[in-house]
Amino acid sequence: MRKRIIAGNWKMNKNLSESIGLISELKSKVASKPENVDVLIFPPYTSLETASALTKDSSIKLGAQNMHQADGGAFTGEISAGMLKSVGCEFVILGHSERRHIFGESDELINEKIKKALEEDLKPVFCIGETLEQREAGITNDVIRSQVEKGLNGVTENQLNEVIIAYEPVWAIGTGKTASPEQAEEVHKFIRELIETKYSSPAAEKVIILYGGSVKPENAATLLAEKDIDGALVGGACLKADSFAGIINA
Ligand code: PEP
Repeated sequence: MRKRIIAGNWKMNKNLSESIGLISELKSKVASKPENVDVLIFPPYTSLETASALTKDSSIKLGAQNMHQADGGAFTGEISAGMLKSVGCEFVILGHSERRHIFGESDELINEKIKKALEEDLKPVFCIGETLEQREAGITNDVIRSQVEKGLNGVTENQLNEVIIAYEPVWAIGTGKTASPEQAEEVHKFIRELIETKYSSPAAEKVIILYGGSVKPENAATLLAEKDIDGALVGGACLKADSFAGIINA
């Protein structure tokens, strides 16, 4: 039985005092969360250390939204895996579509980051997904196959245990357009088959695949009822404790 994960990507939202407020509210709401659900939050860098202290006595787990692939050095403005570990992060989102499309991150760079995160004992939440143009051109599976192959290049089956995959169709992120449960399941199943081909059936059976793209309390239950959807990566709806808790309870 795969674990359920509900993850909240705060993006560039919440200053320190707003972060403290949201975490305090969330803590009381997740105190009664279903036992088989792990709750992950990804605040901005500036709130991580405080978030770590505030979530220590709770079941909320902590991650960062990005990291640099080097150990350290002359990379002005960047943050290393070791730095994230030192402030209590357990997870890191890598390959988010905003990083790919706004900041030009390539599959090769994302692969380097994934391998560095694994080396440093951080669990990557590896995001993949097609654009609307690619979906309409009928090449969704080709795009997903290429992102999976390149992103996981050199990642061993043992390391894959620590990787969470997030399927986030770019056209559904922040747009209010959600993939239908059937559309999402079709791609999740395909991703699991790719993992089976690349690694093994036990690896495919084990790997956690989240869906992301305008998930809300109202649509979460039907998406999460699909066989290959193990949880959700949530953007907009994780910024309010009520709606994030609504998704967790769904
Ligand atoms: C995301 O940024 O990962 C995301 C899924 O955003 P939203 O839920 O706002 O579509």
